[in-house]
Parts: sequence; structure tokens; C-alpha cells
Amino acid sequence: MTKKVRCITSAALAVSLLSSGFALPWAPPTAHAAQTDAPVPYYGLGPSYVQPAEVKSLFPDPQLDFGTPGFAKGKVAFTTQEEMLAYISKLAETSKHAKLVSIGTSLEGRDIPLLLFSKDMTTVKQNQTKPLVWLQAQIHGNEPAAGESALVIAKWLAEDALGADLLDKVNVAIVPRLNPDGSYQFKRYIATDLDANRDYMKVEYPEVQAVHQAINEFQPDVILDAHEYGVNYNQFAHVGEKLYRSCNGRVGNRSTTTSLPTSGKRAQSPPMTS
Ligand SMILES: [Zn+2]
Repeated sequence: MTKKVRCITSAALAVSLLSSGFALPWAPPTAHAAQTDAPVPYYGLGPSYVQPAEVKSLFPDPQLDFGTPGFAKGKVAFTTQEEMLAYISKLAETSKHAKLVSIGTSLEGRDIPLLLFSKDMTTVKQNQTKPLVWLQAQIHGNEPAAGESALVIAKWLAEDALGADLLDKVNVAIVPRLNPDGSYQFKRYIATDLDANRDYMKVEYPEVQAVHQAINEFQPDVILDAHEYGVNYNQFAHVGEKLYRSCNGRVGNRSTTTSLPTSGKRAQSPPMTS
């Protein structure tokens, strides 16, 4: 995901507000920069990797206007909880094929919404007439590409932009943000610093309990669990090395494959799997 980023000048305010643990007023950015000196809600410290200008110039931003909150012109942070709820409420109000429900709340009390898309809402549960495709996103709060893209897909579904006949074939359920507390603090974990994506067996956390119950209730046929993978992770650094070796008779220079050049001023957190 490409995002225009700016410097946050009210960093001290953001830190003090973050420490309070609940919904905070937004500190508006005023100048261009990639990273911040202190955490900002729904943004963290900014990107850990900034594409060098020589490379970035080869990949211009696509000329698309997604129209969702996170892609609004001049927007710095990713979509806030309030923006997300207002946006999907409007989608549900304006689309005759959309319905908004809540499947539960996070540890800190934030809502976990579910958007349903169907031409007959009475038949969605238990696959009464069509397969149900379930898309859930952002169980890891610092993986915003998942949540932002889920909102774009929701918009396209509401506008029939994915094909007017799509909902003749399937029903769709979207949970755009499974971990709202982690999204607020822009961290992987839930409020208690535990990984909800490791709780599907024990089902101890309210966020996982909520989606567990909803999935049991709706019985989807296909589940897409959307994540985001940073460029600084190195688990796949040597993928293709075997082929490379067979073609060249030697292994490539590891120093160029285990880490990427970065203009970022801080290192990426330790590698994690989804
Ligand atoms: Zn993830």
C-alpha cells in the first residue's frame, strides 16, 4: 500500500493521549516527512521503510480514487475507528444490498462490525441459497493494508462495481477490523499485548470469541483472513536461491538478500509470521 505521509508535529500530545488508553482527539500533521518521533493513533511511528527516490520514481502512484477514509486526499493516518464506523454505516444506509451488524466489542470496548452483502438477507446464514464468502481483516492492528482494502471492497460491493451479477452468485460478509484496540495503538497485538491470531484454539480473547461465534452462526464457505507483510521481514529472503544456484553455480551475495536498503531511521521489529 502506498500512502502519502507527513510529519506529526504534536508528538508529545499524541504520546500523552496514547498513555490514557482510550479514544483520543487527532493531532493534525503539518509538514512532509515519513516518520514520527512518537506513536500516533492509527499510524504508529510511520513507515519503517521508505522507498528510495530512484526506485519510487519507477512506480508512480496509481491514478485511482478509492473514496474510502484512509485514502482521502491529505490523510496521513490510516482510517480511525470512528471514521470506519461512520463510513460503513453510510454504505449500509445507501446500498439496498448491504446490512451492518455488530459481532462484539474489543477488550477496550470498541465495536467489531460486520458488513453483509446479499440480495436476500434472510438467506445469508447457513448458506440457504448461495455460498457465503467471508473476508476478515486487521486482526493484527499494524497491518492496515488488510483493513483499508476491506473497506475498498465493501465500497465496490455497495456500488455494484465488482459486477452487478456478483451477488446473484454469492453472498459476502466483511469484518474490516477484528482488532480495533491494536489498530488504535498501531500494534500487532490486542490491548493486553497478546496475539489474537494465536487464539483460535483457546478462544480466550473477546475479539476472537466474537468472530468465532459469528463464523459459527453464518457458516461461510470461503474465509479470507487478510494480513500485511512488511518489506523488512526476511523469512523469504532466500526463496528462489536454489534455482539461482542451479543457474549460476553459486549462491548469491547474502548481504544483498537478507536485508533491504532503507532510508528509514529505525529498524523494523523482529520478523513475525501472519
Ligand atoms: Zn498479520
